[in-house]
Amino acid sequence: MSNHAWLERSRAAVWHPCTQMKRHESLPIVPIASADGVWLTDFDGKRYLDGVSSWWVNLFGHGHPRIKQAIRDQLDRLEHVMLAGFTHRPVVELSERLAKLSGLGHAFYGSDGASATEIALKMSFHYWKNSGQPGKTRFVSLENSYHGETVGALAVTDVPLFSSTYADLLKPGLRAPSPDARQAAAGETAADVARRAAQSLENLLAKHGAEIAAVIVEPLVQGAAGMAMHDPIYLSELRRLCDHYQVHLIADEIAVGFGRTGSFFAYQQAGIVPDFLCLSKGITGGFLPLSCVLTRDDIYQAFYHDDVARGFLHSHSYTGNALACAAALAVLDIFEQENVLEANRAKAEDFTRLMAPLRQHPAVRHFRQRGMIWAFDVDTPRADFALAYFSAMLKRGCLLRPIGKTVYFMPPYILSRDEMAGLVEASLDALDEVLASGQSLTGDPTALP
Ligand SMILES: *Cc1c(COP(=O)(O)O)cnc(C)c1O
Repeated sequence: MSNHAWLERSRAAVWHPCTQMKRHESLPIVPIASADGVWLTDFDGKRYLDGVSSWWVNLFGHGHPRIKQAIRDQLDRLEHVMLAGFTHRPVVELSERLAKLSGLGHAFYGSDGASATEIALKMSFHYWKNSGQPGKTRFVSLENSYHGETVGALAVTDVPLFSSTYADLLKPGLRAPSPDARQAAAGETAADVARRAAQSLENLLAKHGAEIAAVIVEPLVQGAAGMAMHDPIYLSELRRLCDHYQVHLIADEIAVGFGRTGSFFAYQQAGIVPDFLCLSKGITGGFLPLSCVLTRDDIYQAFYHDDVARGFLHSHSYTGNALACAAALAVLDIFEQENVLEANRAKAEDFTRLMAPLRQHPAVRHFRQRGMIWAFDVDTPRADFALAYFSAMLKRGCLLRPIGKTVYFMPPYILSRDEMAGLVEASLDALDEVLASGQSLTGDPTALP
């Protein structure tokens, strides 16, 4: 069956995520038949370089043999067993290894990022209740934050396009300024911006600290905001303030964990440890849905009691799925045995050099990079930039999904130099095409997250 037949059937039967489906009258859905490495192949045989790791999850590209083998091996032993009252080898080993990597001794599992956010928020809230401080019920999130789209997670997400429709469902929280380095005035550094944002947060905590359970942040890079990057000093300030005002620090590393920013966890670049750490996306290398919240042993202890209701009575049917945990263990093996962080450091430097012509392009603003993330803003009046650029890149055999007027690369770590060079060339070419032509599709600038 051809692309066309599959896309028609998909349009008729599948409700696609984060999409105004009417858009697909003019913008074709791309049916993917198979994938290998950084390449996706459609039903007509056309290939696309996956420049965003399929929404940031396919860390090592598609079909990585070690992850495939680990799932196969596990499949022959145990695919799943409920985790209430039962346990199994992959979930124990994964929890032990994540504890060693993070310094946070207990792991609680979910199936997607938004549930990890929900778990961390509920645990923090419940901890304060169990600890005789039931007044600490509110959460602080940052401007332009993104922590998922379930009702609890959406309340700490600052993307009005996603949240304003549901405002009546959401418990209002407090919002602190983003430390986004793009706000630097002339002569200011990213660290100056970070200190200013931390000062505003301090004012908020000084006033409301007694009512606040936790501050939730995306360490170093606010992804869905358009790869807004900040100086690590913000995180060390945040740690200091959370300690001082007795507020939990929730690090949402769903997007930035697993080496994406250059260190295994992003918060490590600030020399801190959070109270809760949310992980998902890259955790299984894009093979199976899994998320995890790690926390300190003393927080775990506050739930340990004869009273059942003091326990954390939260669950998902697939909690700790054995196949997903086996995939995650394979991901950790790859990191250890293939020296991924070190290899990425050299790659990132090389790729940044390859991007010099993009950085120097007259329409490019705020070119930025951290680890294996690159982003830049495009100075264009086109409100439909994201869609137009996405289409122009598809035509050139590349998958990039700009956020508003921000173009970013979040490639699989296995991307080769030649593949990156090709991606950069296509990006430049597409940029000139989109800037030269007029508006063709009607749309708002934030339509392609
Ligand atoms: C993607 C993401 C989430 C939500 O994860 P889902 O699996 O899509 O629910 C939460 N926080 C951050 C930082 C993310 O990037």
